Amino acid sequence: MAKITEGIYAIQGMDEFIPDSHTYVIGEPSSMDLSIIDVGLAGKGRYKIQSILKDGVELTAIKRIIMTHTHFDHIGCISEVLKEIPHAELWVHEAEAELLERGDDRAVYGMDMFKSMCQMQYGLSSDAFRLTVHRKLKGDEKLMLGNMEWEIIHIPGHSSGGIALYNREKKVLIPGDVVYADYAIGRFDLFGADAKELRNSLMKLSKLEVDMLLPGHNQLVKGLPSDYISRTLKMWEPYLI
Ligand SMILES: [Zn+2]
Ligand SMILES: [Zn+2]
Repeated sequence: MAKITEGIYAIQGMDEFIPDSHTYVIGEPSSMDLSIIDVGLAGKGRYKIQSILKDGVELTAIKRIIMTHTHFDHIGCISEVLKEIPHAELWVHEAEAELLERGDDRAVYGMDMFKSMCQMQYGLSSDAFRLTVHRKLKGDEKLMLGNMEWEIIHIPGHSSGGIALYNREKKVLIPGDVVYADYAIGRFDLFGADAKELRNSLMKLSKLEVDMLLPGHNQLVKGLPSDYISRTLKMWEPYLI
């Protein structure tokens, strides 16, 4: 894992022909109350777990997996990871949690064509993502996780139950696939996506003071310009209608 700052660690996604999301581990190591944010693509569970173990983190210290959203590139290896840490709780925004619990995987694959491709490529059964969710997030929670305060912000648009995690003290934002480096934003053409909601979500994020942007893919940015998210929104606004 790469240490981003005290209590925040990153494992780079290992992209194949499908991208693998970055995985973040948050919480003070001594707290024994760590959270994994997004496990990543199918087949990457071993790589992610090995990266955690290499840094001497005990798997018993990991208490939960929080999903920024439930796309395949973010939760594909969830069963692989749960085999190693079966005690971990699953936390997801309620909008996507309800789909997972019903075994409705439209929010996982986003579109039918991608579903059949993934199932074939990874040998996944049709109920591979029927999961029990332990905590359904609503947005606006302030959570003490590993001795750090994290705010949950509901940012739909890329998906219906997308969330960001925000640490106000360190000015760190983990926005999933809603906003990336290089003025890029998440796509808004998949199941559950909505361009207008994405616009509102970017607007919400633009009001935060963010020094470190830790997105689901591509570069992590330290020293983010203060108007970065609002400039990104301005660029994309004509398309977000
Ligand atoms: Zn996504
Ligand atoms: Zn993604």
